[in-house]
Amino acid sequence: MSEFSSRALLARLVGFATVSRDSNLQLIEFVRDYLAGLGVHSELFLNPEGTKANLFATIGPEGVGGVVLSGHTDVVPVDGQAWTLEPFSLTERDGRLYGRGTADMKGFIASVLAAVPAFLAQPLRMPVHLAFSYDEEVGCLGVRSMLAALQQRPNKPRLCLIGEPTELKPVLGHKGKLAMRCQVQGAACHSAYAPYGVNAIEYAAKLIGKLGEIGEALALPEHHDARFDPPFSTVQTGVINGGRALNIVPEECAFDFEVRALPGFEAQAVADQLQTYAEAELLPRMRKVNGASAIRLAPLSAYPGLATPADSEAARLVALLSGSEAFGTVAFGTEGGLFDQAGIPTVVCGPGSMDQGHKPDEFVSVEQLQGCDAMLLRLVDYLKQGE
Ligand SMILES: [Zn+2]
Repeated sequence: MSEFSSRALLARLVGFATVSRDSNLQLIEFVRDYLAGLGVHSELFLNPEGTKANLFATIGPEGVGGVVLSGHTDVVPVDGQAWTLEPFSLTERDGRLYGRGTADMKGFIASVLAAVPAFLAQPLRMPVHLAFSYDEEVGCLGVRSMLAALQQRPNKPRLCLIGEPTELKPVLGHKGKLAMRCQVQGAACHSAYAPYGVNAIEYAAKLIGKLGEIGEALALPEHHDARFDPPFSTVQTGVINGGRALNIVPEECAFDFEVRALPGFEAQAVADQLQTYAEAELLPRMRKVNGASAIRLAPLSAYPGLATPADSEAARLVALLSGSEAFGTVAFGTEGGLFDQAGIPTVVCGPGSMDQGHKPDEFVSVEQLQGCDAMLLRLVDYLKQGE
């Protein structure tokens, strides 16, 4: 096996424990050196602390837009998961390659790196760009600085392929997400005098109930888009904290909720509706008892949805590469919505399955990895001059 095969490169990439909370610089430096060895220059976009970086590199002619191959270098933690194999070392067993990030999504990055010599061997009519990000798993945070820079360029990339695991099936859409924290500030007192206090938990419960109602309205058939599962936007409260003892009226309560929005539905509308309800219905009652009462809403993270038209150039390219014209969607989010928002039409197609992503004993099959290698060779053909 060549040290530049996708499998050998995957073994190197898995060996860097790039959990989102930790630095990804060792991996980025490895990729930079690998590309430099092939004569390809990389540009790094560091985070403000200088501990993480995005990498951007271009192969092919300057002065024309091209195709971005995009992947995130960070992985989710393995803490508390029952791994039977070493997570940060590649193990091959029964046609499967095990290790954290093999499916999500170092397999794709390895395949892209392995394809670089093939891209270099041909005169290309438009360039291929490699865009590898950090902090995707914690809200698609890292890629934003790289996208801001790309947007300024006169020859912005024409389209983007994100290699998140879709079993090499083309995916043109996914929902967007808005995560919010709501903090309710009430007033404490001895529970025997409950009406003299402002019970933050009880007001939080009313707000959560309201979110439930908003969610039910979004699920009505007139809002359905059958391409997605579930076929409507959803609202969910996932974390709540409040109260110290049963004999104290709780002063504070905070809860986190998220909106998974169909492309085209503005998730912020849910937060706005909750804010209006809080101001019109709850705060006047709370402040009658204690003027310092408050309900504060703040975003935790957000990324836009994706719905690339089936008749677009990006959709045609991914159909050509994958051999399927289906308008596939996935339930998980990607950086695709951000690329799309930056004016770079985006599709998602990569090796492995998210059934294995984020789980113990994560794997990508050798067959899927080789399938991705083959798909990238079809991209070389597509980008070749004279085609
Ligand atoms: Zn991913």
